[in-house]
Amino acid sequence: MTILAVMEQRGGEWNRMSFETLAAAQQLARELGTTAGAAVLGQGIAGLAGELGSKQLEKVYAVEHELLKDYTPDAYAAALRQLIAQAKPAIVLFPHTYQVRDFLPKLATSLDRVAVSDVVAHRVDNGQVVLVRQLFQGKVNADVRWATEGPNFASLQAGAYRADQLAEGSAPVENFASQLNASEIRTKPQDLFRETQRAVDLGAAEIIVSVGRGIKEADNIPMVEKLAEALGAELAASRPICDAGWLPMERQVGSSGQTVAPKMYVAVGISGAIQHLVGMKGSRTVVAINKDPNAPIFEIADYGIVGDLFQVVPELTEAIKKAK
Ligand SMILES: Cc1cc2nc3c(=O)[nH]c(=O)nc-3n(C[C@H](O)[C@H](O)[C@H](O)COP(=O)(O)OP(=O)(O)OC[C@H]3O[C@@H](n4cnc5c(N)ncnc54)[C@H](O)[C@@H]3O)c2cc1C
Repeated sequence: MTILAVMEQRGGEWNRMSFETLAAAQQLARELGTTAGAAVLGQGIAGLAGELGSKQLEKVYAVEHELLKDYTPDAYAAALRQLIAQAKPAIVLFPHTYQVRDFLPKLATSLDRVAVSDVVAHRVDNGQVVLVRQLFQGKVNADVRWATEGPNFASLQAGAYRADQLAEGSAPVENFASQLNASEIRTKPQDLFRETQRAVDLGAAEIIVSVGRGIKEADNIPMVEKLAEALGAELAASRPICDAGWLPMERQVGSSGQTVAPKMYVAVGISGAIQHLVGMKGSRTVVAINKDPNAPIFEIADYGIVGDLFQVVPELTEAIKKAK
């Protein structure tokens, strides 16, 4: 096995981005004429590992340990180092999640390697993998190659690869017994900050309706909320809306907010500044409603409605309700 996808789960629930990483691992394996495998870490993860057994993979590693129950960078890095020493993958891929951002540099550095982070695409050039990363808020794409022998590491941006292109198959599940020692784990996990009652995971949303400054006042937001409800969508926003406290920060999309890649992203009264676009341009279908026909959002929109949102949004909401 040459390519290993490290999946992320928390409390027995997959992070949906992991399946994009798995699809990328399969794709890269096909292009390089080799095989891919997957690993999942945690405690009580046999069921999750079993799910991966139905994918086209050479092997699935279930890395089970009581010290992996709650995430800590020390335990994750140590367990993965041990797994890598045994499985000897040339390339190890991760979803670019907050958790991966936390431990991947430590893991890579401890093996005297670098990790290429937030990769948006790749190509194979003369048998060599070339990774693409964005610089300067997405204005420039940089080609990056690993200069070292494996294991080489990369994390993949949300939406860069398509989970719906995963190839089904069957793969044996192997339990990997990591040797972890409680005295080596220096952090004590506390309650997760996102696990509040209002937790919202925009990264997992299939449809997002996002509102921008065109909405003018906080009192007008319920109008857009109704459109989101009609579509069964999560509500999100551009930065000025969250800065003003009209919606919580956790709903901000963009370079200083969340990166999202839903099936459909409806941008309502959002101009399409580069800092916003980098957070949502991986969306499958973008619908933009804006009164300015020259708004940059239309450059990436699949469907554009040039009009006054105060007229368009209620009419669209009614039409969607009727169509249901
Ligand atoms: C370091 C840095 C980080 C940043 N991070 C982020 C980030 O994470 N996310 C983010 O979103 N921004 C971010 N920004 C801010 C970004 O540059 C823009 O200022 C912001 O995205 C603009 O938000 P907007 O599109 O809602 O507002 P505007 O740019 O003001 O656009 C409002 C749009 O609404 C339209 N409109 C107005 N009235 C109507 C109407 N009645 N009907 C229809 N359309 C109407 C207008 O034509 C306009 O296109 C960042 C900026 C910096 C410098």
